[in-house]
Amino acid sequence: MNGLLRLLQDGRFHSGRELGLALGVSRSAVWKHLQRIQSETGLPLYRVPGRGYRLAEPLSLFEHAKLEPRLKQYGWSLNLYDTIDSTNAEALRLLPDKDGEPFIVVAEAQTSGRGRRGRTWISPFGQNLYCSFALKVGGGTKQLAGMSLVVGLAVMQTLRRLGVEAGLKWPNDVYVDGRKIAGILLELTGDPADLCHVVIGVGVNVNMVSAEGIDQLWTSIKEQVGMVDRNELLLALTETLKQYLERHFDEGFSALRAEWEASHIWQGRNCTLSTGSSEYSGVVIGVDLQGGLRMTLDGCEHSFSGGELSLRLDP
Ligand code: ATP
Repeated sequence: MNGLLRLLQDGRFHSGRELGLALGVSRSAVWKHLQRIQSETGLPLYRVPGRGYRLAEPLSLFEHAKLEPRLKQYGWSLNLYDTIDSTNAEALRLLPDKDGEPFIVVAEAQTSGRGRRGRTWISPFGQNLYCSFALKVGGGTKQLAGMSLVVGLAVMQTLRRLGVEAGLKWPNDVYVDGRKIAGILLELTGDPADLCHVVIGVGVNVNMVSAEGIDQLWTSIKEQVGMVDRNELLLALTETLKQYLERHFDEGFSALRAEWEASHIWQGRNCTLSTGSSEYSGVVIGVDLQGGLRMTLDGCEHSFSGGELSLRLDP
């Protein structure tokens, strides 16, 4: 499927004859392939008599040959898919075969992309970055404390280097001007007090300009600064993540806490924290050394942590 999509990814018209010659198939085979691509990926495709076929928007598809050697230099092996249920789910399934070696799962589309608390991450084909980094972590909770916030810093810095004015929202969302551009979901297996595996899931809206089913404000890199090569983005993210994780493992979250707080979009703001059963309103004053949220409530400081917590800015 991707051979034909690769020919079309420039977003220009290509005649059925040209596509057929390039792939060594008949024009009617090209047409059948295109129909399959359209139904499997949901990508809008135009067919204009006399001119041929073109995609509604250009694409930047992942290229295994380009990615694999460079990711290896950073210490990660690559597992690339067209469509997968969830890159985190696949990483968790692959863990037993990988013998503790770090690896990345990347997909062009996710059918059940995961958010926190069973929420869905909308993941259309070929437009965004959906990836999961799997690694072995020793040293227990000390090493894990604040780790998901550190991943947020790496994603944010990768975006800022592209000119996107990204900031962080506790615990691990990345926003631009009140719109969500990326989400992070860490999942653990093993013994969090000793040796465990961490799967770091990252979803970044890259070249997406329209989407159905996202029930909050969102944006993408393309909307902010124009289209980018997703291969280069993945490589840049991997390099930045490696630097941040090394620092985190060497020095702990304390070395990165001030940078995180300086990037928090709601630092010093009045917010409400929802725990599912209760709500707390107060001022966000920062994060603690475990990555928990620090707020002042009625003049007293409190720290909150846990996967069920959700922070909202007060009107
Ligand atoms: P919280 O603010 O408490 O972290 P959240 O609503 O941001 O919660 P997450 O689990 O972090 O929840 O992310 C899932 C939510 O993100 C979805 O419920 C949806 O509102 C939104 N969402 C889903 N797909 C995308 C996407 N591609 N881009 C931006 N936002 C998305």
